Amino acid sequence: METTTTITILGSTGSIGVSTLAVIDKNPAYRLHALTAYSNSNLLFEQCQKYQPTYAVLVNDGDAAVLADRLAASTCRTQLLVGKEALEQVASASDVDTVMAAIVGTAGLQGTLAAVNSGKKVLLANKESLVMCGELFMAAAADSGARIIPIDSEHNAIFQCLPLAASGLDKAQTKFVDKIVLTASGGPFLHTELDSFDKITPEMAVRHPKWEMGKKISVDSATMMNKGLEFIEASYLFGLDHSQIEVLIHPQSVVHSMVHYLDGSVLAQMGTPDMRIPIAYGLAWPERIASGAKSLDLAAGGTLEFQKPDLQRFPCLRLGMEAVKLGGTAPAILNAANEIAVAAFLAGTVSFLQIARINEAVMKKIPCEAAASLAIIQDIDDSARKLAKELILKGFC
Ligand code: NAD
Ligand code: MG
Repeated sequence: METTTTITILGSTGSIGVSTLAVIDKNPAYRLHALTAYSNSNLLFEQCQKYQPTYAVLVNDGDAAVLADRLAASTCRTQLLVGKEALEQVASASDVDTVMAAIVGTAGLQGTLAAVNSGKKVLLANKESLVMCGELFMAAAADSGARIIPIDSEHNAIFQCLPLAASGLDKAQTKFVDKIVLTASGGPFLHTELDSFDKITPEMAVRHPKWEMGKKISVDSATMMNKGLEFIEASYLFGLDHSQIEVLIHPQSVVHSMVHYLDGSVLAQMGTPDMRIPIAYGLAWPERIASGAKSLDLAAGGTLEFQKPDLQRFPCLRLGMEAVKLGGTAPAILNAANEIAVAAFLAGTVSFLQIARINEAVMKKIPCEAAASLAIIQDIDDSARKLAKELILKGFC
């Protein structure tokens, strides 16, 4: 008889959350413990009706009363919890096996860490929580026995190219690795004239050529901050030195990343650019299930190109690489500054070019220190956000 897996999806109304539910639609062996959203109560209500989770969490209480009434009036027996504290409750509940961590940004930290601390299988899409406190995060997973399965397509690709380990991620897996290569599509502005970068609007930046994603990660892909964050993410996940991580631009997004072994062998994972593939791999690991994604047709796809990234064009990628070299709280400082800068860009307050300038100025002004505790990291995160907001208010750069 097939066993049932009980899941909480943190961020079920987002791009990764919706794709996770689409994979679950194809695989009836999954039961939903909780679905969570920030404020999209209409979609959360529809999801509750369809999937009948035990709990629904709405973080922003604005629409909570209306949602509670709608749930009570429906046939749905889902109980509504309100506020961000409830995220920890549904991520650590004893009957949950697997937590999909798909909240965007630092807001995902609490729930993701609760899942890690309670030893769950954690499908990690929320890269910002790892970027912010990578060392503590990985140490907490080792202590609790949590299995971290990367969902970010590049890290998922690398994970698939490493030897299978019982614990999900294990130092022994990278013993024979020479280096890893993270591929990047280059985003929508790979070939845009540099002197027209000052005319880039939020609408232009969120239109990614290969992937359909939430707004924040789409802007991060356009600045290539996303690859900078992924560089940091890879260093923590796989315990690699910065010299063992390389980035290559690969506009076709067919090869999702590669592992170079000491003997010269290179293993790559390929597939159509569809997040349902890494999500299905994470859900079923170490087995495989159908994802609903189209099968790759290499003959129809034409040429596969690879080139080195231009760090002048994409200074945010350089900042991510520098943050890994600096270590300590540097990644947290960069991540916090970037969240503020991207939100200001989406709100029309700063230009596209200013995102990198704000990030660099905050990194230069706040000295980094050892990331010894969550309290230290949270303090430095606050300071970096405050400074980024001050720079924006002063019309810096
Ligand atoms: P999204 O913006 O589409 O969805 C975000 C989800 O988080 C929503 O459910 C939203 O309600 C919830 N949320 C937002 N703010 C919140 C808050 N303050 N408190 C609680 N919940 C909140 O984002 P996405 O594109 O699905 O990305 C989610 C995460 O996955 C990000 O960390 C992103 O970097 C990562 N990721 C996404 C993709 C992708 O293809 N979308 C690929 C790789 C990694
Ligand atoms: Mg990625």
